[in-house]
Amino acid sequence: MIDLTRYDAILVQSSAGKDSAAQLDVIAHAAHAAGVLDRVTVFHAELPGVEWPGVVDLAATQAHHYGLRFAVRRQFRGLLDLIHQRGYFPAAHARFCTADQKRAVAGKYVTELLRGEFRHLDRPLRVLSALGLRAAESPTRARRPRLRTSTRNRAREVTEWLPIHDWTIDQVWNTVNATGIPRHWAYTAGMSRLSCSICPLASRRDLVLACQLRPQLARQYAALEDAIGHRIQNRTSMHQLIAQAAERP
Ligand code: SF4
Repeated sequence: MIDLTRYDAILVQSSAGKDSAAQLDVIAHAAHAAGVLDRVTVFHAELPGVEWPGVVDLAATQAHHYGLRFAVRRQFRGLLDLIHQRGYFPAAHARFCTADQKRAVAGKYVTELLRGEFRHLDRPLRVLSALGLRAAESPTRARRPRLRTSTRNRAREVTEWLPIHDWTIDQVWNTVNATGIPRHWAYTAGMSRLSCSICPLASRRDLVLACQLRPQLARQYAALEDAIGHRIQNRTSMHQLIAQAAERP
């Protein structure tokens, strides 16, 4: 476990999903043991309209379960507008959605801290930014270092930390279930991941199920495909997914 007392602010980036909930449990206990619980904020970058309904409330519930602060912020321009402007959907090699809708939003929150609570600090603000990414999720995530520090901005030193990087999915669910906090209904409905309901990086199974659970949103994505002339995935269009969703019971 890293030395949490070194950091002025500890941000737990949360989608309210299983991995976020598991890392939160780890960090809350570690911060309590280190006497720095008051430095921890559960931070949710909201994607209005495209993330699963109820996610903000669940992320807040998870934070309050441990007596932690909760902050939610959003980008001025929504994800669908961003995709429309770009003219193509995000992909594994082009995750502009995460960069714009999550990382940039978290970065602005750190700026808020610098201008507010920490405005009198006479050295760079030391921020620990925790993400619930796991190596087992993808080869790209497996290559991510567990800890890396960026000092590109002289006013802040941001250390990205992946506290459950080497965890298995069973470890994650066992930890989440032990907290007693209910899981999001999308998991109960069969989704394997949370965050955006319809994600271009998701499996076909999750995409078809999401089309069944959020048919109106699926039609919005289909209309976006038509408008920009680009499919949600190379080999799959929203119209095909919607048709498949209609065939399945
Ligand atoms: S869930 Fe998918 S679409 Fe949404 S921000 Fe993450 S990668 Fe992008």
